[in-house]
Amino acid sequence: MANNKDYPLEEEHFSPQSRFNNQQLIATRFWEKKKLEDMSKEEWELLCDGCGKCCLNKIEIKGKIKFTNTRCRFLDCQNCLCKIYEHRFEKVSDCRDIDLAAIREKPRWLPKTCAYWLLDNGHPLPDWHPLLTGRADSVHEARMSIRNRNTVSETGIEDYENYIIDWQDL
Ligand code: SF4
Ligand code: SF4
Repeated sequence: MANNKDYPLEEEHFSPQSRFNNQQLIATRFWEKKKLEDMSKEEWELLCDGCGKCCLNKIEIKGKIKFTNTRCRFLDCQNCLCKIYEHRFEKVSDCRDIDLAAIREKPRWLPKTCAYWLLDNGHPLPDWHPLLTGRADSVHEARMSIRNRNTVSETGIEDYENYIIDWQDL
């Protein structure tokens, strides 16, 4: 969970669609041919569907991860982007990097729709993934992101167990 400092928005001028500009790379369908560990940094970044669900706070109860509908205070609930992406690890002590260890950690703390978790477990990308649709917004249109869902900022919240949710896509 994040600390209580305020930081300016960094993604103000960032267009989520611009992540998918490298059509030449996307046309190779690298995610069907390469293991996660063999991907370049650009390929790795492209896999993220932009759902924002990994930035919901979670608690562990009896060895199981329970998602809550409280979101990191730095997560923009409309565009589902981190407001401090470049500085997230400096500013938020428990912000997790999405690396192989995180993807393979048990109990699973990434949503089951997460592209990294899906590929690492032998599943294809879902048909709403922006790499397949060519549109960053398709994750929101498929209602697979946190946009327009009942979430609240974590600021001031202490009793996280009262915010546990059971969304089908977690
Ligand atoms: S859950 Fe996975 S796909 Fe969704 S924003 Fe987080 S890292 Fe990206
Ligand atoms: S990526 Fe950003 S919004 Fe998500 S948990 Fe880390 S600091 Fe918070």
